[in-house]
Amino acid sequence: MNVLVSACLLGMGCRYDGNAKENPEVLALTQTHSLIPFCPEIYGGLATPREPCEIRDGRVVTQSGLDVTEAFRRGAAEALRLCETLGCGCALLQDRSPSCGCGRIHDGTFTGGLTQGDGLTAALLKENGVRVLPASRAAELAG
Ligand code: SF4
Repeated sequence: MNVLVSACLLGMGCRYDGNAKENPEVLALTQTHSLIPFCPEIYGGLATPREPCEIRDGRVVTQSGLDVTEAFRRGAAEALRLCETLGCGCALLQDRSPSCGCGRIHDGTFTGGLTQGDGLTAALLKENGVRVLPASRAAELAG
């Protein structure tokens, strides 16, 4: 199965601070699935490194208060386009991110707090029928 994967989980240094978030459980899925790395924030036009961003009152803002919602929407739309083009049966996305977070995201206070909700990419993929799993549930795709 083709699986869209948050690129940072595969070891690519695309996080806001330029680091990766390599995840051994996700990497192990290369044995059974075709993993397609994608970073919606990069494809939305943002640079690396960049300011941390969180969702507040339905908008995505940087820590210094800049509204970057449109870039996040562009990245989400590109993720959906890629899923549709490649027939991805599932997307496996990094937890808590304002793009990739699935079920729980940072709460907009930049204090490490969490709240229920999805990042913009996770939400758009779900709305369009793509199964979205957080990286913490990667084991569900094993076997
Ligand atoms: Fe990783 Fe997603 Fe953040 Fe890109 S937007 S660095 S893929 S969590």
